[in-house]
Parts: sequence; C-alpha cells; structure tokens
Amino acid sequence: MTNWFRQIPFSADHSSQWRERWEYSPNGITERSFDVCVKAGKSLDILSLKGRDLNEVCKYSDLLKKSALKLYNKSANARTLHECPICHAVLDNAAVELTVFDVPYVRCKRCGHVCVSAPPAGEVLDDLFTESEDHSSTYIDRRALEIRMAQIVVPKIDWCREIFSSRAGRLPGSVIDVGAGGGHFLAGALRCGMTVEGFELSRTSRNFAFEAFDLHLRDDDFLTSSCGPTDLVTFWGLLEYVLRPRDFIAAARKKLSSDGMLVIEVPRVDALGTLVQAMENAVVARHMDPTSHINGFSDESICTVLVEEGFAPVAAWYFGMDAYELCIQIALRSGGVGSFAMLAQFIPVVQQALDRGRQCDDIIIAAVPMECS
Ligand SMILES: [Zn+2]
Repeated sequence: MTNWFRQIPFSADHSSQWRERWEYSPNGITERSFDVCVKAGKSLDILSLKGRDLNEVCKYSDLLKKSALKLYNKSANARTLHECPICHAVLDNAAVELTVFDVPYVRCKRCGHVCVSAPPAGEVLDDLFTESEDHSSTYIDRRALEIRMAQIVVPKIDWCREIFSSRAGRLPGSVIDVGAGGGHFLAGALRCGMTVEGFELSRTSRNFAFEAFDLHLRDDDFLTSSCGPTDLVTFWGLLEYVLRPRDFIAAARKKLSSDGMLVIEVPRVDALGTLVQAMENAVVARHMDPTSHINGFSDESICTVLVEEGFAPVAAWYFGMDAYELCIQIALRSGGVGSFAMLAQFIPVVQQALDRGRQCDDIIIAAVPMECS
C-alpha cells in the first residue's frame, strides 16, 4: 500500500513545468502535504556525450560484467539484506525486480525501493570507490570538458539557484557537494561566485578536479566531518552507491544553513530504461549496473527517506536516458551502427514523452528542512 499520493494538473500533459500537491499519508491519514514545483525534460545531446560506437558499449558492458563477478565473489562476507535501507520494512521474501550480471535486485513492498539483495560489505565498496578511475588525471580534454559543463552542469546549477532563490529570496552563496567526482559541479558553482567544498573518495577523481579546475576535494568521511553551515548540500548520483542512504540525508540536515536546501539526484527505477535492461540478453552499460548502483529509487522511497529525516520536498525534475537505452538495445539486436543512426533520430521525442509521463530513469529532488517548508 502506498503512503504517498499526488495531485497533478491536466496541463502537465503538455507542459515542461508545473506545480503539484504531494501528500504523505501513512496508514491512510494525511500527515503532511507539500507544494512541489515539477519540471520534466532536459535538452541533452546524448550522442555527443555518449558517442555512437556500439562496440564500445559492448566492451564496457563486458568489463562491468567481469567486475561484478569479482566484486560479488570477493564479497564472501556479503550479507543478505533483511530490511529495506530506506523504510526498514522486512525484505525477506521480497520479489526480485530484475537480475543484472547474475546479481538480483529486490523490491521493498512498503516503499517500492529496489536494491541489490546481498550487497558487498562496506569495506569492499569503500576500497572500490577509493580505487575507482572514472577520470584520467594525465589527460584533460578541454573541449569535452566544456561540452559537459554546458550540457550537464550549467542546467543543474541554474535549476538549484532558481528553486533556492524562489524560496529564500536570495541566491545560494555556498555549496557542499558529496561524491563530487571530477569536481565539475563545484567548478560551475565557483563560476557563479559560490563558496564551494567537496568530498570525494576516488583518488584519481580528486587529482582530476585539481588538474582540471584547481579544486582541492576532501578525502575524509562526510558523515563524520565538520563542515558547514552551507546553503546547499548536493548529492549528484551518490545515494545509489551507498549501503545506508539515510545516514547521508540525516548528516546533510545538520550541515545546512537555516534556509538551506538539499539537492539529490538518483536513478529512478520505475522507468522504461529499467524495463529494457531487465529483458533477457540486455547489454547493460549504465543505470542498473550492480558494480556501482546497489540502490534504485522509487519516487516513494526517496520522498519517504526525506520526510522521515526531517525534510520537505519542494521541487522535482524528471528526465532520463531511456530512449537512448532503448535505441542501443534495439540496434544491438538488429545489426548495428546503421540502425542506431536511424533510431537515434527518435531519441529526443521519445524521451520527452517519457519525461512528462514519469517513465524516465533519473530524478533530481530539492528539499528543505521541515520547519522551513
Ligand atoms: Zn522500503
């Protein structure tokens, strides 16, 4: 049974931004309701970012498959999860939602959260992230960097500033980004004149941030660190990696200024992209990849954890790469590059429909401490 309901205006069918009423009603009684500014769709030239080389996709998927085998075998001390990392409901006998690289993901019956049923131990994950080499520290392609800044970072910063200023009556002056990767978001925030601080476990990513942006990222643990107060705490693609997402949200609450805002981006599991990846013989190279994503969020799971940790959701942005994912899977089955080039023409319109219809594989949610809502 769901604990969340929403009122959606009919105009959402043809709009890119609108307001909704989200109600939290545990046990059928409405405890709280939230006025949420909703946005759908993000213009993105996916092919310029992801390329169109199907062999690369296959090679990368093979690499992930080998990593998964190693990671989940190495985790002899991996324990089956007995409760949902979000709502603590019992997970025994939870239904398997999908299996990727022989690793099953199960779904919580209470909040709809999806997670790997027996994740690697925390130390194994920490080692993995510390040694992760997402970024090359020896070569920085400035042109690719600026494309990424313009297409991914700037729209996110603009959205954060818009939502923050509509509530606080001023622009945010500071940000703490956790899981800062190569520092792209913080570099963008710096360009807007904000004071920035970042946490990142991966050594190569920290080196990249320093060489590309002259940014010093912290390597200590955000959960136990002293930092803040800050106007924004941001988790761009962080919570899907961690065993205990609630701890990060609780910690963010303590680091925010009185009119501060938490911004979270997570993969959405109730999406076309997930369904396509759940098909037999799917080639998985992103999204539900158990070598990094041990959590997949439902709207209900992310909102439940926010409210239970003292936050009110104030804005949500729906978008994704489902159409790209679908085209890749069709092209791989139907013989290659030619068909992908033809199919790729449809990506923007298919994705637009999916974003509006909330069948997209990504969401950004902004939330404020409850007493400020
Ligand atoms: Zn749950």
